[in-house]
Amino acid sequence: MIIILARHRNLIENDRTKEINKINKQLQFELTERKKIEEKLAHSAMHDPLTDLPNRILFMDRLTHAKAYSRRHADFTFAVCFIDLDRFKVINDSLGHNVGDLLIVESAKRIQSCVRAADTVGRLGGDEFVLLLEGAENPEDYLRILKRIQKQLLHPAVINGYTVYISVSMGIVLDTDNYETADELLRNADIAMYQTKKEGRGDYRIFDDSMLEGVMTRIEMESDLRKALDNHEFILHYQPILNITTKEIVGFEALLRWQHPNKGIIPPNDFIYIIEEMGLIVPIGYWVIEEATRQIKEWQEKFNKELSININLSTRQCAEKDLAENINEILERNQLNPSTLNLELTESLIIKDTNAIKFTLENLRNLGIQVQIDDFGTGYSSLGYLHKLPIDTLKIDRTFVNRLGLEASGSNIVQTILALAHGLGMQVIAEGVETEHQLAMLEEMKCEYVQGFLFARPLTEQDAEAMLLKS
Ligand code: C2E
Ligand code: MG
Ligand code: MG
Repeated sequence: MIIILARHRNLIENDRTKEINKINKQLQFELTERKKIEEKLAHSAMHDPLTDLPNRILFMDRLTHAKAYSRRHADFTFAVCFIDLDRFKVINDSLGHNVGDLLIVESAKRIQSCVRAADTVGRLGGDEFVLLLEGAENPEDYLRILKRIQKQLLHPAVINGYTVYISVSMGIVLDTDNYETADELLRNADIAMYQTKKEGRGDYRIFDDSMLEGVMTRIEMESDLRKALDNHEFILHYQPILNITTKEIVGFEALLRWQHPNKGIIPPNDFIYIIEEMGLIVPIGYWVIEEATRQIKEWQEKFNKELSININLSTRQCAEKDLAENINEILERNQLNPSTLNLELTESLIIKDTNAIKFTLENLRNLGIQVQIDDFGTGYSSLGYLHKLPIDTLKIDRTFVNRLGLEASGSNIVQTILALAHGLGMQVIAEGVETEHQLAMLEEMKCEYVQGFLFARPLTEQDAEAMLLKS
């Protein structure tokens, strides 16, 4: 009897131990699961979901630490760099967000392959990356990293079957001791990057305090831009376009400048996107057409020559239903032969709404106006639109002209564009010609027209006229 009872008790004890073990295991499992979830949450709070790079919060935290550490250790150095992909918006708009995302991921990988393990690469969002570089012996080492990044990104990326050319603009703060907070450091790197964009992209600038003077806040800009047209602050500069064989000036491209009362001349890349967003591009755009056609008519008569005028159009302007009608009115007022007016459109514009754009372009064409594609090759658009739309001329973007003679692929692209254009009965203008070598190659490839610093920068009205006189 006693034995049976003892055995019975043993059985109960065993069961209970098993039960307790089971509960313990379950608890342990739930704990580790919860821990995992917590870790995941903590990770995602600190990292960018697309690239898994540190996000702004984590990056700023590391930057704050680096700043604090350098205060205590005089021989410790660090640098902060801001990186922005050039023309990312164009790629995103023309090839879609999916390709845009893949390009960001690819760029992130390439940037990361250029830094050392101790450095931090972060993504702030969009096409903006940031670097925290630490512990180099001298500033040159930091700049070497930037040069490496520049080179790494220059190799074309093949994404979903598209070959995409990218470059980056960078800004770096090297004298990090001179600034107090992480926010200030990052802002200065951003300002230096902005300076790079202003001076033509695809490079880096080192921040110095003088750059601060040129910075205008967006709010200030908008309020000043609202008054600029009425205050006659816009002016046009004219860059000659030459026939490649005769080297004769055949016409000019009108390029907008903003003569700010205190800040001096502001280039279009710094404010056109703002007036586009504000909707001011339409009235300002009409002013450009009015002024440029008046000017070219004056020169045509003065020099007794069929000079043409190239005018850039924004997407917003093309969306205007009565664009052709209004332009016609301006042409009549200035008594300009429509065949001497060339309108430059960008590829991204054409991709957006091919049917609507076709209608507008046909209306313009019916007036006798010529249509040209600007910055050709950077829109990454399908080439299918070229034969569907009434287009007369392609302008090869200067990034391709730049590569001429530097690498075989550079010449191949230009040659391909020329063959394509000529096959479709279009003419070609090469933009951004800077060297005799580029000119010689373009001439050999049978490009018709050239434009670039080799011949002249965009000129004031007086200088353009003087150049016409000389020729
Ligand atoms: P874009 O139409 O492609 O104009 C050519 C730009 O390349 C001009 O810059 C010109 O100064 C620059 N450039 C010309 N030759 C060379 C060269 O040999 N080397 C280098 N590095 N650059 C060269 P800009 O005047 O600063 O104009 C920038 C852009 O602003 C223009 O690019 C155009 O897209 C836009 N823009 C200018 N005026 C207007 C306008 O009236 N309306 C609209 N919607 N956009 C305009
Ligand atoms: Mg243009
Ligand atoms: Mg262009």
